[in-house]
Amino acid sequence: MSKLVNRMILASLLFAAFTAQASAAVPVYITIYMEKSFVNEFGSQATSTANRIFNDTARYYQDKWGLELRLNRIDQPFWVTDGASGESPDVKGSLLNLMRTQLPPGGTGWPNNGVEARWLLVHRDIGLQGRVDHISALGGAWSNLLVNTQDRGRGIGSWATGDPRQGGGSGTCAAVPAHRRASSQMRDTAIHEMAHLLSAVHPSAAACAIRNSPMCVPGPATCTSTGWVESRAPGGSMDPDNAASMTRFISHSLSGLPNP
Ligand SMILES: [Zn+2]
Repeated sequence: MSKLVNRMILASLLFAAFTAQASAAVPVYITIYMEKSFVNEFGSQATSTANRIFNDTARYYQDKWGLELRLNRIDQPFWVTDGASGESPDVKGSLLNLMRTQLPPGGTGWPNNGVEARWLLVHRDIGLQGRVDHISALGGAWSNLLVNTQDRGRGIGSWATGDPRQGGGSGTCAAVPAHRRASSQMRDTAIHEMAHLLSAVHPSAAACAIRNSPMCVPGPATCTSTGWVESRAPGGSMDPDNAASMTRFISHSLSGLPNP
């Protein structure tokens, strides 16, 4: 047999082994909470938008990792105000702190030994696009994450507002007002934060410079005639090579969950 054939057989055996392991993972039940800001932005489309973010994310995890996400329900929480911050869950009154204190402890007790994750969708400037309670939170009491569907506006003049002159770029950008993110960006954020719950961490900047991974954070912005462009490749499609860095974490995380 040629080396190539040997490699192909090895690759398919590895794939089968991983698929078998991944498919033995328990289902993850997703409860989605919509903040008022999200409902205000999307109006009658709020629930369908939440559904779409879920479906896009679930398809990714099913196809890529053999992990089944099941939608539990979409809800509007009474406990979230539009004033809560995106700060650390250790900060009293922050969004993730409210999820800790106002929701019953999550984790276990779901059909087929499943575990729960809670998503909160917001649409306003909380200083970030997404956040998890902590890395590897899935299966614990605080398996919570945020997804922000608003891209905050960017002005000119300081690093805090994204001035590319301080991030390695040059020139002067037109200011960009806050706007709704593209569907693919909403999906990418949900994929990214879910992966954090599953133990994934950010690849190195060097790895991100040559690969496109949902775990890469945007690099320095550069100016174009129409506004800002972040250095991360668009679309969030997964580089198969880069999948290896996620596999290490996700397969470990999946293998740590109880079997159904
Ligand atoms: Zn991250």
